[in-house]
Order: sequence, then structure tokens, then C-alpha cells
Amino acid sequence: MSIQNLRATFGPNCHWCGLPMDFAEPRDRPESATIEHLNDATLGSVRKQKHRRLAHAVCNHTRNALRLDAERRFQRWVEDRVAAARTGTGTGTGPAG
Ligand SMILES: [Zn+2]
Repeated sequence: MSIQNLRATFGPNCHWCGLPMDFAEPRDRPESATIEHLNDATLGSVRKQKHRRLAHAVCNHTRNALRLDAERRFQRWVEDRVAAARTGTGTGTGPAG
């Protein structure tokens, strides 16, 4: 499904912020319309067309960056938790730091 098809189906506004998107070519600006995959491969699900929506490039990129950052922080927290359990220090509850 193309950007034009998605625009016809879901309208010209961003899925995340609801503000109008820029559909002019080339779509390389922060306000440009990009395809957002609501079901990511990181969630273990297959990408399906019905889960595609349009979002600003900046909204799409920011969401991905923050999700990646959150995942890294969570991974560090898990490592700290495991390390604390092995050494018998710490409570193992709550985010570190
Ligand atoms: Zn947006």
C-alpha cells in the first residue's frame, strides 16, 4: 500500500500527533509523510498492510529513537538486576539510578 493509498484511506493527518503532513516530493523533510508500521518486527509479529499508517518523518523517527533508547535502558536494568541477584546485593526492584 502506497503513501497515496494510505492518504486516501486514513486522511492527510499524522497518526501520532494528528497534525497535517507534507506530501510534496521529495519526502525528506521532518514534516514529510512516511509509512508507520504499527506492528514492528521487534514485537515478533509479521508486518501487515492493515497495520500501516501515515506519520510525520519526525514523529516516526522520534518514536523509533525513544523506543530504542527505552529498550537499551531496560536491558541495562535487567543486567543490573541479574548482577545484583548473583552477588546478593541490592533489592532487585525499581529502576537503577
Ligand atoms: Zn506527527
